[in-house]
Amino acid sequence: MQIGVYSGSFDPITKGHIDIIERAAKLSEKLIVTVLNNINKNYMFTLEEREVMVRECVKNIPNVEVVTFQGLLVDFMKDKGITLIYRGIRAVSDYEYELAMAFANDEISGGKVETIFIPAKKKYMYLSSTIVREIAMNGGNLSLYLPKNIEKKVEKKVKSKL
Ligand code: ADP
Repeated sequence: MQIGVYSGSFDPITKGHIDIIERAAKLSEKLIVTVLNNINKNYMFTLEEREVMVRECVKNIPNVEVVTFQGLLVDFMKDKGITLIYRGIRAVSDYEYELAMAFANDEISGGKVETIFIPAKKKYMYLSSTIVREIAMNGGNLSLYLPKNIEKKVEKKVKSKL
């Protein structure tokens, strides 16, 4: 079976991520979305909260599975016999970092994994979790960027932090 992974912090998941998940799910028989916990990162949402939000957003896509993960993605993939990584590419600024990651993953996996870049939709080209958090902290309207149920959770979280 052809299985792909799409990994990210999803802090929080946005409509841009969901678009990539929907498109990657069409390209593979199964798509595993890995919600990463990077110990060097300061997240707004806990790993569990991020996982719950991702699950809610993909619950109607039958071939998508959601897992949480800490460590090297290629190790996770090796354990499961997966060789395909999907990444979303937005503006040129993503390209350098994503290319470096793709090279590193190729090298540390001994050439076993392949990275496929999916271009962001034009309307989501400049959408990031960072921008969503900024807008949320300043009381802005998030409906363009987040599904309704996630919008509520983000607003609640922000209020709890003020
Ligand atoms: P990371 O911490 O790995 O950067 P993110 O959750 O920010 O995690 O992003 C995960 C993946 O989703 C990356 O490949 C990123 O380029 C992509 N991505 C993020 N936002 C968008 C968007 N608006 N449109 C398309 N791809 C996106």
